[in-house]
Amino acid sequence: MIVLGHQNPDCDSLCSAIALAGLFNKLGKDATPALQGEPNPEALFLLEQSGLPQPEIRTSVAGEEIFIVDYSDWNQGTADMKKAKIRGIVDHHKLGDITTSEPLECWIWPVGCSATIVYNMYKFHNQTPDTAVAKMMMGAIISDTVNFKGPTTTDIDKVAAKELAAIAGVSDLEAFATAQFDAKSDIKHIPAAELILRDQKVFEMAGEQLAIGQLELTSLETALSKKDEMLVEMGQLQANKGYHSTIVLLTDVNKLDTTALIISKDAEKVAKALNSTVIDHAFELPGVVSRKKQIIPFLQTAFEA
Ligand code: MG
Ligand code: MG
Ligand code: MG
Repeated sequence: MIVLGHQNPDCDSLCSAIALAGLFNKLGKDATPALQGEPNPEALFLLEQSGLPQPEIRTSVAGEEIFIVDYSDWNQGTADMKKAKIRGIVDHHKLGDITTSEPLECWIWPVGCSATIVYNMYKFHNQTPDTAVAKMMMGAIISDTVNFKGPTTTDIDKVAAKELAAIAGVSDLEAFATAQFDAKSDIKHIPAAELILRDQKVFEMAGEQLAIGQLELTSLETALSKKDEMLVEMGQLQANKGYHSTIVLLTDVNKLDTTALIISKDAEKVAKALNSTVIDHAFELPGVVSRKKQIIPFLQTAFEA
């Protein structure tokens, strides 16, 4: 079985794929983690910290048995995923559109991170993750919950991260989180074309497609200095793909605020849905850090009204 994370892999889809494949292995089942693209710098940091090898990249899974982690939408899978046998889903997003022709195992919880759910699957099966795997899972929870400051954070995430830190032998969680966020904020030498795709997901709303990426940074300074370059790349992507909107969220993980960059057929509609106003292809979202909880529901309401 292949345990497959989503497109534009983030820490959670990498770590949860590794951790879930590890659990299946402990239970005597054959399972391999896979990614749909190169890991981002934060995910590479976690691989380096835990000493684990990078999982293989799979962009085709036709005919395979798969378990998917950190999504439940067809458009976040491989193009041929409908030809795979989906045996299960672990996710913490709104329910997507995947359906199957056979029964499947679903672990969908409204918590801050898929790795939190996978850790509870270990407990369900009376298993303990290996030290390196525990470190990856802990890092994923730190990432997805914005070090427990994001609005999706639950007590279940906090308990899981604490227990995983103990298994991983990490005594200073705060120092680990700082190093991790520094790794993902190091964007100076990353081309704008790559930055706008980081963590990007395409959402369907009333027949329109909105592509929304997110950069989580310890300061927005470097990103804002690349604003014009990013807008050019976003404009090209928008023209090529025919999206309604191409958005890049620049989220300050210290101030817990977001500045959104936008190229859109109707930027005002998008900004208004989020109680903001567009100035020069950008709008401010004070107090917003979570795309799934503080952005998508409001856009969906505005578009599907
Ligand atoms: Mg994810
Ligand atoms: Mg996640
Ligand atoms: Mg995220």
